[in-house]
Amino acid sequence: MVSRDLRRCSATCPAQYRIDGFGARVVLLPTRCVLGEHVLVATGYTAALTADRVLHVTCGACAVSGVVSQWLLTALEEAARAEFSATAYPSTGSTSPR
Ligand SMILES: [Zn+2]
Repeated sequence: MVSRDLRRCSATCPAQYRIDGFGARVVLLPTRCVLGEHVLVATGYTAALTADRVLHVTCGACAVSGVVSQWLLTALEEAARAEFSATAYPSTGSTSPR
């Protein structure tokens, strides 16, 4: 089941990166929330990097309805910026509107 994989990923998976055209490292954020129901950039989200370098990306729409939907991504490398990627994380690519 897809949802089981999502839960596993919500318990921390490695952040993914790409190198942009200027040679800068970019950390990739999932397009959709952990539950896959919301497009984060459309519904709102918070992203915070903790001292132990875990990137918490929380779905604002899920939070409103009392559901904890939070990506925990270990971000061990420095990144110049962040961007959304529909393909970097397996759960976000299938029904992306982009
Ligand atoms: Zn959500």
